[in-house]
Amino acid sequence: MDSLFTDQDFKKIAFLKEQVKNNSFPNQLLIINNDSDKLNQFANLLARFLVCQNNLELNCSCNNCQRINNNTFYDLKVCGDYLSAIKKEEIQEIIASFQYSALEANGKKIYLIRGAELMTPEAANSLLKFLEEPSETTYAILLTKNKNKVLDTIKSRCLNLLLNNVIVNQVIEDFKKEFVINFFSSLENNKENIFILIRELFGYSNLDNQEILFLIGNVIKNSAWQEYNIGSQKLITTLETKKNKLIEICFAMGNLLTDNLNKELVLEKAMIDFYNEVV
Ligand SMILES: [Zn+2]
Repeated sequence: MDSLFTDQDFKKIAFLKEQVKNNSFPNQLLIINNDSDKLNQFANLLARFLVCQNNLELNCSCNNCQRINNNTFYDLKVCGDYLSAIKKEEIQEIIASFQYSALEANGKKIYLIRGAELMTPEAANSLLKFLEEPSETTYAILLTKNKNKVLDTIKSRCLNLLLNNVIVNQVIEDFKKEFVINFFSSLENNKENIFILIRELFGYSNLDNQEILFLIGNVIKNSAWQEYNIGSQKLITTLETKKNKLIEICFAMGNLLTDNLNKELVLEKAMIDFYNEVV
């Protein structure tokens, strides 16, 4: 069942798995890809991670994982088929069923919306009201083949996750790491240089740019100083002190790159915010 996933998808899967383990899994996710089978497989895996009774393995066959696979897990609700419009009544039915306590022992309630772009305006508005009152035990996983047709207000309530279909070539992967090393080296030696450095990114896709911002965020989050040749104690102290704020900038700006916003402007804003924090 894993054949549709690329190496990059597996990285995202590993990242989300960690978040489940740390109890920091996002409650509201929008997953974007043009292949509905891939979206379904990805969502199925995330739902299983949330309720798995074992070790969150990809091929786990614990009771909960099996019931997610068979669609017999009581607290998993699914609507939509990527083809027909999703009506207000369908959304209201999910919301109504979630007014009660979870039926399953682990207390988590999950709903999948397949084809979030196909919600009628009334359905989208019902969902939006529900998303605006998030509950810690409720998980929304919205799936879309066309993010441009998803209401902006819904997109902005969710963590946006773009899956790509192409096996990324090693040259781009190497470029990303080298860029991040140069980025931190600029912060160490000549901070203004980051504004020149980002121009190297303009020729790459939004997805590549998003991954670079996430990578910078993760270097700081994981204190991966050595791996990225960051030697200056002064810089490390600054990064540690501003850790939360800097990670937030990287992830918030990275998320914006899945929208139709001007890539150059988003990257420049990210650099300005970053610069202002570290000077
Ligand atoms: Zn399991």
